[in-house]
Amino acid sequence: MELTDFYRIFLQHPVVCTDTRKIKKNCIYFALKGSNFNGNAFAKDALQKGAAYAVIDEESHKISDKTILVDDVLKTLQELANYHRNQSKTKVVSLTGSNGKTTTKELIHKVLSKKYNTIATVGNLNNHIGVPLTLLTIKEDTEIGIIEMGANHQKEIEFLASIAEPDFGYITNFGKAHLEGFGGIDGVIKGKSELYDYLQANEKYVFLNADDPIQKERLSTYINKFGFSETDHEYYNIKFLGANPFVKFKFENEEVSTQLIGAYNFTNCAIAVLVGKYFNIPKTAIKDAIESYHPENNRSQLIEKNGHHIILDAYNANPTSMKAALDSFGEVESKSKVLFLGDMFELGETAAKEHQAIAHLAEEMEFNNTFLVGENFSKVASTFKKFKSFETLKAHLENDKLSPASILIKGSRGMALERILEYL
Ligand code: ATP
Ligand code: MG
Repeated sequence: MELTDFYRIFLQHPVVCTDTRKIKKNCIYFALKGSNFNGNAFAKDALQKGAAYAVIDEESHKISDKTILVDDVLKTLQELANYHRNQSKTKVVSLTGSNGKTTTKELIHKVLSKKYNTIATVGNLNNHIGVPLTLLTIKEDTEIGIIEMGANHQKEIEFLASIAEPDFGYITNFGKAHLEGFGGIDGVIKGKSELYDYLQANEKYVFLNADDPIQKERLSTYINKFGFSETDHEYYNIKFLGANPFVKFKFENEEVSTQLIGAYNFTNCAIAVLVGKYFNIPKTAIKDAIESYHPENNRSQLIEKNGHHIILDAYNANPTSMKAALDSFGEVESKSKVLFLGDMFELGETAAKEHQAIAHLAEEMEFNNTFLVGENFSKVASTFKKFKSFETLKAHLENDKLSPASILIKGSRGMALERILEYL
């Protein structure tokens, strides 16, 4: 079937589903394949549950004229999304970077939806499937789409940009995340920069953090740009006022008190202000949007329990975000500070070195108590209490209850450190 014919079907059934447990009436079901499943096998089920069509790529699963056979379901989904995006007048703002993409995406979404009809990536659906699915939620009256793009290897962002064709883009930072797939920090910079490369090559618009040394170095090469800075008066000025524990900052004469913990969230807010300014959102509306944003998903939450003030940041971790979280925790005013750090994943050959460096940094900061948990941390040379598994940490905490303290908990998602809460 030609893409234009397929598109006509989509316009009549503009809801896409990929999971037969969540079929919506009259949707188009795309039979994707994963490592453990083959969506083709569920096509019949999807139609029985009310899907209008099922798109498949294995002929043996063809049952009626409601099954549309294509060469490759995933490729068809991506092509359809790109075609749809180009049929619309929607402006697309894309985000990538090592840390803070989702937070920044949600902040920008909050700000822009004060004035415009918007759609945005739901949660963290930021890959080769999530990006097309998000683009397919663009409606006739959608003015701006905010699209998160994730990557763990080269050419991934280039590919996602070719699908989303963004008009604007921002890279949150170049950090030590997914070092394994990118091949070191230079690989991260190259891989994430594919977004700015796309924008530059297509004469689109780059949003910049002019205080980021790598972004600043490249500023002169970009033609269309709009940046913020704390210190450089050539750029839009936004001032950080502190994070104790919540981030406060100032732009023009507006003081903004956020519900976000961690000094690193300042840049996430700053770019949301900048984008708001670019799209002519009134400054009081920008302030209101950012102040009302509350993070979810274990992303830097403040929890009060048994006299403890707990900063739970158990959503993910890598050397850059660990350092940012430690620096910020160092600034918190408290008589007693306790640190729980869990392993950082996906570091490849550098794992031992990076865990050692974080332990060393924590040692220098001299918190009242530090607990390290996980295979990698258990191997570092340090004076801290180290636990190979969560179970041994748990046993220790049950026997030796902590007295009230300010506590930071941070580790990779796979460590699920939120479990510690039960034992505090
Ligand atoms: P993912 O790769 O899972 O999509 P993400 O880039 O979308 O992650 P967020 O979900 O917004 O990032 O934030 C995850 C964690 O990253 C936060 O809990 C915080 O610890 C850290 N973080 C957020 N923003 C920054 C930043 N600007 N610099 C460093 N670390 C940050
Ligand atoms: Mg994310």
